[in-house]
Amino acid sequence: MNAVATLSHPDRLLADLIAGRLPDARGRFGPFGGRYVPEMLIPALERLESGVREHLKAPEFQAELAAQLRSWVGRPTALTFAPRLSERLGARIWLKREDLAHTGAHKINNAIGQGLLARRLGAKRIVAETGAGQHGVASAAACARLGLPCTVYMGAVDMERQAPNVGRMRLLGAQVVPVTSGDRTLRAAIDEALRDWVADPLNTYYLIGSAIGPHPYPYLVRELQAVIGREAREQIVAATGSLPDAVIACVGGGSNSIGAFHAFVPDASVEIIGVEAGGRGTGLGENAATVAHGRPGVLHGTYSMLLQDADGQIQETHSVSAGLDYPSVGPEHSLLHALGRVHYTTAGDDEALEAVRTLGETEGILPAIESAHALVGAARWAREHPGRTIVVCLSGRGDKDMQTLLAKLIKEPA
Ligand SMILES: *Cc1c(COP(=O)(O)O)cnc(C)c1O
Repeated sequence: MNAVATLSHPDRLLADLIAGRLPDARGRFGPFGGRYVPEMLIPALERLESGVREHLKAPEFQAELAAQLRSWVGRPTALTFAPRLSERLGARIWLKREDLAHTGAHKINNAIGQGLLARRLGAKRIVAETGAGQHGVASAAACARLGLPCTVYMGAVDMERQAPNVGRMRLLGAQVVPVTSGDRTLRAAIDEALRDWVADPLNTYYLIGSAIGPHPYPYLVRELQAVIGREAREQIVAATGSLPDAVIACVGGGSNSIGAFHAFVPDASVEIIGVEAGGRGTGLGENAATVAHGRPGVLHGTYSMLLQDADGQIQETHSVSAGLDYPSVGPEHSLLHALGRVHYTTAGDDEALEAVRTLGETEGILPAIESAHALVGAARWAREHPGRTIVVCLSGRGDKDMQTLLAKLIKEPA
């Protein structure tokens, strides 16, 4: 179960990671990552990789991205001290407010960044997948902003469950295509988006929604989300004069967390904690806690921790938060776990729902249920480390979850 034993040179890998030498030339984070895709996808991924190498760090691209982040996304997002929550938890809690980013979550950082890259690479249209619809909405918004047609693949089951987001995407000018194959949810939607991309890889750009997938996507998404941790690190040092004792974020595919963590990985004094969806139990199919209950395997083109049965079949997952409901996790997280640099823990459905209420009542902020998992992790860490300073990545706002919150938390009749 514990992958630490399989790493041959952990100290060197951590040094490589900190020095920016990972992913390596083969797209690997130690044993994890890589490019496990059908032959016909290789040229498209190689083209994307050379495009990323040419543009991502170039001053003109960075200036264009910075302008969009400032004037359209609304960055930098605030780092808010939470005095009443701090008092309740017995530690000093600071919230990195990705809920204040345009479209209500961190996903827009990635969508606008990849949209700009797609335009640089000469793409004529964007395809994206979406599960709960948050990445679909962010992609639709970014494409509208940049004048690119957008097709979003969404499982037929999810379209029913997330009807308001289907409407939002359509109002933003995107075409939403129901996926009726496979499990008719996120997993099948990713397969369908990849198929569309392969059909015309020169004119189409595949805008993936988390730090997952074949190389170079995990690297690209991490670089675009790293703005979260870069800002938070500067903000906390400016506000308190020192680094925090801990940084905590929720982990689905792993994009808000890798973005929040990246700048802090070299700071040995900072404890880093990822919180996965513990769902309703530790049994098969009861959670989406990939690092806690998974084993390495391949899904969607990357080798990473994966929820699978004894035969290697992908397990069904469950979480009250749709955004955490994915059976794998980005490969960089698998390495950070194996190295012991990030500690991964879980928060259950009920604890997360209570944490939504707590933040609402103490600070006047309704977080996304995903983000509330990070708050549960923060409360636990605060109990073990009273008086310390914690930065929590509040990945999104709770408005999208009102239906679930009303059903589960508001008991009295309307
Ligand atoms: C999608 C989503 C997540 C989970 O995705 P990551 O890639 O793990 O960040 C977390 N929080 C919110 C608000 C989301 O919309």
